[in-house]
Amino acid sequence: MKRIVIDLETLSEKDIEFKKEIDDLIALEVAPKTQDMEDGKINVWDVLEPLGKKGLLGLRYPKELGGRGSSYMQEMLLSEALSYESLVYDMVRGSSVYPAGLILVFRRQETLGKYIKPIVTGEKKGCFCFTEPDAGSDLSRMKTIYRKDEDGNFILNGEKRFITNGTVADVMVVYGRNGAFIVESDFEGFEMLEEYKLMGLHGLNLGHLKFTDVKVPKENLLFYRELKPATEGSQRKRTSAISSMQQFLGPERVAMSLQALAVAKRAIEIAVKYSQERVQFKKPISEFEGISFKIAEMVANFEAGKALYGKAAQNSQNPALCAMCKLFVVTSTHKICDEALQIMGGIGYTNKYPVERLLRDIRLHRIGGGTDEIMKYIIQKDIYKGFNKPIGEETEKKVDFQF
Ligand SMILES: Cc1cc2nc3c(=O)[nH]c(=O)nc-3n(C[C@H](O)[C@H](O)[C@H](O)COP(=O)(O)OP(=O)(O)OC[C@H]3O[C@@H](n4cnc5c(N)ncnc54)[C@H](O)[C@@H]3O)c2cc1C
Repeated sequence: MKRIVIDLETLSEKDIEFKKEIDDLIALEVAPKTQDMEDGKINVWDVLEPLGKKGLLGLRYPKELGGRGSSYMQEMLLSEALSYESLVYDMVRGSSVYPAGLILVFRRQETLGKYIKPIVTGEKKGCFCFTEPDAGSDLSRMKTIYRKDEDGNFILNGEKRFITNGTVADVMVVYGRNGAFIVESDFEGFEMLEEYKLMGLHGLNLGHLKFTDVKVPKENLLFYRELKPATEGSQRKRTSAISSMQQFLGPERVAMSLQALAVAKRAIEIAVKYSQERVQFKKPISEFEGISFKIAEMVANFEAGKALYGKAAQNSQNPALCAMCKLFVVTSTHKICDEALQIMGGIGYTNKYPVERLLRDIRLHRIGGGTDEIMKYIIQKDIYKGFNKPIGEETEKKVDFQF
């Protein structure tokens, strides 16, 4: 199937050259290791570290910071190619360079610049920590907090769970109710409580982390806001840091949609090929409409997802559009993978083909980065805000949602 997520016609010669470079690299150096990672024989970083040395983890960072100074288009091509091979590679890559990105966004190069190059080259691993045991979709329940010390430094207390790279990261962005800082895993008071076993995404190190009186130097500040006093009727002080995070959520959802489209593409390719080769009742099963109509629907949804992705990628600060894109693309990709497996019958349920892995892996995208339900919440809120409130309706309370 010639269909790709990013259409070749939109690419410059330089981009096509780059695409060839990464396609070859993935075929030679990444794909042969995927099954070993899936089986727990090697670590994902055995695959990613060599990519870091080639400037591919943080492609868009300048050369002097370990990247290649590449375009957004090349970043998308890389993300598509890695996700096509395994979502784990691109998720781990994205989470790892996140702290470097935030240092640039908050213009903290002077104090925190020393962290960027080691992260971008893969010498050090990074992660970002929003989620807590009591604060998942509803970040207003976040308890993690920074207390200013007499000497101007900060004391961090809190717990974070479901953190990608959490058990291997050297450098973390830890969000609290009142700010975000760069925290190193060797700061005293940091503890790794657990590494989770996962349904899919084998190789991804998902951690539960604890911070007890961790002293964080003031130079490590990304942003800090004094908590607003509690409002009448509310016991807790309002979270003031959450609004600062929300600008990153749209781009993250768009990025996750691209990852999902790459997975959909792979599932469709495998199912189309298999259905042409598999003969039952004296014909290739592709000649049964029960099968070929599934393919038609899968491809129609893939193309619709691509169109929505194209629109959201141009408007990544439009929360409702990004939510629509993620909701549509990840739910349809989940369905596409399930139908691909159905088309393959029993062999689809074994690991002879990667379709069962694609199905398990993509399931996360309906939860991480904001659940399907939260995407629907964001979309309907945007729709209704344009209409008059129904008679007797109370003014809506402000709710801070994660992702
Ligand atoms: C593999 C993996 C990687 C992750 N990586 C990271 C990471 O790197 N950093 C990080 O900070 N977090 C990470 N997460 C956490 C992820 O973002 C959260 O799991 C997600 O936001 C949902 O939170 P929760 O699991 O606490 O579910 P909850 O918020 O408890 O939700 C439970 C259910 O209730 C539903 N629900 C909640 N509120 C509403 C509502 N208002 N209306 C309707 N339904 C609702 C949800 O949709 C869901 O179905 C990761 C999670 C996983 C599994």
